[in-house]
Amino acid sequence: MIIRGIRQDLLNLLFQMGRDAHPNEFVALLMERDGVIDEVNLLPGTVVREDSASLLYDMMPLSTHIAGSCHSHPNGVLRPSGADIRFFPRTGRFHVIIGYPYTEQSWRCFSSDGQHYRMGVV
Ligand SMILES: [Zn+2]
Repeated sequence: MIIRGIRQDLLNLLFQMGRDAHPNEFVALLMERDGVIDEVNLLPGTVVREDSASLLYDMMPLSTHIAGSCHSHPNGVLRPSGADIRFFPRTGRFHVIIGYPYTEQSWRCFSSDGQHYRMGVV
């Protein structure tokens, strides 16, 4: 699977989801279509708090279109936590962290090993 980028309007939606969940964290799956991440799949029961990410694993749908995950950091830290790095390899290759204040600059993408990944915006 080659991922060319993430859609700008999906990013805007993720920022909105971050604002809506604040001060809690939200966790969601990112879905791709034709190599573009263009959909978010919010699973029930996953909006809780930091370190909640592991809850998601048991509810993962079986789909070949899962590109990775997205979750928010209400503390604004745009770095994966230790729990995040353990969680990432189980849910796809690309992992977006959205941080407070949920604006254009407050997101980063990471690969499954926790390294910063320069995801394009399309
Ligand atoms: Zn995290």
